[in-house]
Amino acid sequence: MSKILIVEDEQKLAELLKDYLAQSGFSTTVLDNGLEVVANVRENRPDLILLDLMLPGRDGMDICKEIRTFSNLPIIMVTAKVEEIDRLLGLELGADDYICKPFSPREVVARVKAVLRRSGGATTIQTKGLILDETRYQASLHGTDLGLTAVEFKLLDFLAANPGRIYSRDQLMDKIYSDDRIVSDRTIDSHIKKLRKKLAAVAPDEELVGSVYGVGYKFI
Ligand code: CA
Repeated sequence: MSKILIVEDEQKLAELLKDYLAQSGFSTTVLDNGLEVVANVRENRPDLILLDLMLPGRDGMDICKEIRTFSNLPIIMVTAKVEEIDRLLGLELGADDYICKPFSPREVVARVKAVLRRSGGATTIQTKGLILDETRYQASLHGTDLGLTAVEFKLLDFLAANPGRIYSRDQLMDKIYSDDRIVSDRTIDSHIKKLRKKLAAVAPDEELVGSVYGVGYKFI
């Protein structure tokens, strides 16, 4: 089920969108403040964002630009003025589509589906010479394929989406294994060890995945 993040401060409109998208089989999250968006995207990895332009806290343009520094996930910008669309296009923010208010919720659902179809439903993270292609579970560093296993890919993908944040082994296990199987701490350590070895083989002087003694791991 695709996860749609609705960023909209007009509560009625947000609820209308939520209802229509839910009826079409999407799972939705609503945020009404611009300041919460980037953290939410990093943590919850939506498949698409409906991003209102005028928001309390931080405007949609700024948010779009920041998201584009680490992810190519589909973004549909929503604006209250038709004239704004030309200006936004000129700024090359990297949004995938633009919708003008007032709109019919049906039209929004159709656009969401079209953009998701175009994007193939998966995203790519790019940071520090690293490209993580979530469609193929493929990771490359400075153009060299890292040859990661699925578990190594998931670990790196998760850590890289949340740079600087320290995750305990338990938290990483929860993210990597969706079932309730019992995995020891050592399992994560051993996957991380192999992952770091593969990263070091390409870039020996860069430590992308760091360990924090007694706590866990983080992406630099
Ligand atoms: Ca607004």
